[in-house]
Amino acid sequence: MDALEILMNKDKVVPYFQPILSATEQSVSGYEVLGRIHNDDGEVISLGDFFNNESIPDEYVIEIDEHIQDMAFNYYCQAKQNVNLFINCNSTILMNNQDYIERLLNRIKSYETRGLLLEKTVLEIREHDYLGDLSQLGHLLMYIKSFGIRVAIDDVGKGGSNLDRIAQLEPDILKVDLNFIKGASISQAHRDVLYSLSTFARKMGATLLFEGIGDLTKLNAAWRNGGRYYQGFYLAKPAPQFITKSHCKEKLKSEFQQFITHERNHLSNQYNFTEQLHNRLEQIIKKDKTTSLDELIKGLATNLTDVCFRLYICDQFGFQRSSNYVKNNNSSHWQKQEEYLGKNWSWRPYFLETIVRMQYEKRGVLSDLYSDIETNEFIRTFSYPINEELYLFLDIPYAFLFERKGLLF
Ligand code: CA
Repeated sequence: MDALEILMNKDKVVPYFQPILSATEQSVSGYEVLGRIHNDDGEVISLGDFFNNESIPDEYVIEIDEHIQDMAFNYYCQAKQNVNLFINCNSTILMNNQDYIERLLNRIKSYETRGLLLEKTVLEIREHDYLGDLSQLGHLLMYIKSFGIRVAIDDVGKGGSNLDRIAQLEPDILKVDLNFIKGASISQAHRDVLYSLSTFARKMGATLLFEGIGDLTKLNAAWRNGGRYYQGFYLAKPAPQFITKSHCKEKLKSEFQQFITHERNHLSNQYNFTEQLHNRLEQIIKKDKTTSLDELIKGLATNLTDVCFRLYICDQFGFQRSSNYVKNNNSSHWQKQEEYLGKNWSWRPYFLETIVRMQYEKRGVLSDLYSDIETNEFIRTFSYPINEELYLFLDIPYAFLFERKGLLF
């Protein structure tokens, strides 16, 4: 249907509601309002293309948009559910049509006595839709928020959206679409993106909502990465009516239980591995009678040839006090690299934090999975306190971690 046809068939336009579930309550906590139209063949078609097509004049979009809002607000009040209502807004239209936001505010207020509160409405906008001065959009959002309406940034991570710009808009909620995950497993690169987004959301104090949850893998990704709200076909499809609040409760509860059991096993595997490696090193170092650190490293390398491909010793300030001992892939031959003596690693992420942790706990520490600068492979580092002053670092290759799946993430 083209834009004019949609406009002429306004009476066939209806709001659809896609449930948003809360991880905390395991129940429906809100709905996103979506535009649909009934065509002559009795099918219900999405108005997504109509709303996302820049060539359609603002007046057309606003007319259909306001029509959907009215129907949705009306339905919300009839349904008498104390849930949040998420409304999509195009940020360019918002900025270019001064009276649009005033009409929206007045419209919501006009339903106030019937049960729709400003505090229950969430405005979804896409940061990358808007090409103008970001601080002006920021001001407008601030104004909207002053009425109690919350602001969600839609499609975070898509369409070249920029975390810097998003932070500037101080949203309450970040919506991340998980449709970029294909298949039953998630690549390390995608894992890292999700991890960065969850860290970003936590630092800026925004709540994460994951949408596009089409299967269990995606639900798990949302749960693992700090998602408080979930939306997607796997949980509930968009429909012309609201559903019962407890719609997915049993499903979410039992799947969370699975996730928790899996995660706990995973963490205890890691803990056991750390414990074993710590004890093994303790034994070797206790028996060691060598007089130089390079001799010690050489002995450790021979002993630990099954676990690591690189070893070295630093002092508590990060200065390397031994040579590197390195082994190439698939070879058991260790090579000494003296040129590393005296280098300083205190600038590396987590370095000092790990040292201080070892000083307090007197235990070895296993790092997270990260990409090694030299080999470009994913590795983990095991750090071990030899004494108050000296610390041993073992780099564990991907192949070793891969064989013990529990150590991969
Ligand atoms: Ca949306």
